[in-house]
Amino acid sequence: MSQSITKSSTDVTAAASERRPSAALEFGQAWDYAPAPEAPDHVRIDPRYGLFIGGRWVTPRSGRWFQTISPSTEQVLSEVADASAQDVDDAVRAAREAYDKYWSKMKGSERAKYIFRIARALQEKARELAIVESMDGGKPIKESRDVDIPLAAAHFFYHAGWADKLDYAFHGRRWRPLGVAGQIIPWNFPLLMAAWKIAPALACGNTVVLKPAETTPLTALLLAKIIEEAELPPGVVNIVTGAGETGAALANHPDVDKVAFTGSTDVGKKIQRALAGTTKRLTLELGGKAANIVFEDAPLDQAVEGIVAGIYFNQGHVCCAGSRLLVEESAHDLLVRKLKDRMMTLRLGDPLDKNTDVGAINSKMQLGKIRELVEAGEKEGAERFSAPTKIPEKGFWFPPTFFTGASQSCRIAREEIFGPVLTIMTFRTPDEAIEKANNTMYGLSAGVWTDKGAKIFHMATKLKAGVIWGNTYNKFDPSSPFGGFKESGFGREGGRQGLSAYVEVE
Ligand code: ADP
Repeated sequence: MSQSITKSSTDVTAAASERRPSAALEFGQAWDYAPAPEAPDHVRIDPRYGLFIGGRWVTPRSGRWFQTISPSTEQVLSEVADASAQDVDDAVRAAREAYDKYWSKMKGSERAKYIFRIARALQEKARELAIVESMDGGKPIKESRDVDIPLAAAHFFYHAGWADKLDYAFHGRRWRPLGVAGQIIPWNFPLLMAAWKIAPALACGNTVVLKPAETTPLTALLLAKIIEEAELPPGVVNIVTGAGETGAALANHPDVDKVAFTGSTDVGKKIQRALAGTTKRLTLELGGKAANIVFEDAPLDQAVEGIVAGIYFNQGHVCCAGSRLLVEESAHDLLVRKLKDRMMTLRLGDPLDKNTDVGAINSKMQLGKIRELVEAGEKEGAERFSAPTKIPEKGFWFPPTFFTGASQSCRIAREEIFGPVLTIMTFRTPDEAIEKANNTMYGLSAGVWTDKGAKIFHMATKLKAGVIWGNTYNKFDPSSPFGGFKESGFGREGGRQGLSAYVEVE
């Protein structure tokens, strides 16, 4: 008996080593799958979307429109309104009226019913939303289907649950909503960021004007349709599309009581400067340069999965991406080899294909930024490895890449790349790992991989980051507060802590 077990396990090992990809294999060819695209034919994208203001779809007073394209095909998907300051003013007025007339007067249990309705509709339309998210943003369908859309629905469910229990959220202290929230979001998780912003604001009795990013407006507009169908009182949620000027008009509007911004540190600083001296409340969720720290005693294969999820997930378009890998010197060579092998099995291509691991870069501009920083890394003497992938003819693409031999002063070790580019460095002691991990202007997230739970807790107390994952990476939950230290911003989203960003506690 024991012999047969030994024999069969040897067979399995032999078979596995035959399958084990080597450098001779083409990228993505280790296991060849037939194409498995998610069909977009039942998905309806209107040729043009107006602004959703006061419960109605209106043409922009600006008279201007702009196109939103698919970054994987460069095909025009739709045309959306470019809201001017006047349009933003209309939206803020509608939100104020809705706040005064309906939303601030409504019982929490009633607000909850509307928020639950939105959550259920997101679940019902999950497939359509996932497809549109992947078309407009370029991320693989398996991410939009399994991460973005379910989490967006979960955020509405979670906050609907709070709406009638807020008296218990602030330790018995009295609270009141803030009024009108102006919310500005980026393109990396378009629907999920909209959910992170809108759900807690509504639960706490505020009304909203939300501006999605100019390259990914579509799922926010579909959310506006869901909100319309859910029959929220007119003006409780308003969605205005446009670029930076529209965002600035919203943040600077005198009748906005609270600004919530997720995006780049540069724009976050501009908003902070503009709001200085006003009574507006502000939360900022900005950039990051997270360290994923791997000790020699870590389960390395599991760590490789976490590293891949940390940096190649969503093409690295994640503020909390594990873009610096700090590996204990003794494990460096083995880990790098394992990572290389794993990268050879990643599939880059059509975001709508269910087998795709790496989708398109969100925009031509973002691709330019990634290329510039990668060139800087090469010039500074770091050694580059890029998975030898075939790049589709159309669209914006960048292969999963890592650098070894970089020093802490290199731009690739300091600046946020916001692309699938990892910088690998080494350390010898936990203290050195902590020092290197904290040697950044950012402080959004970090990861620790080790066999020792005590080491994870020790590291977590020393790392200056808002979110620290232990033996995992990029895991999110609506009940878990998310937010940064230092130039990654301030304020938390999610959990009980996230609610306090939308209330005045007496
Ligand atoms: P990213 O680098 O992630 O694109 P940005 O900070 O440029 O981040 O954009 C995030 C969001 O901020 C987008 O919705 C964008 O339109 C908006 N935005 C850009 N500039 C400004 C500004 N000056 N004021 C307010 N919002 C802005």
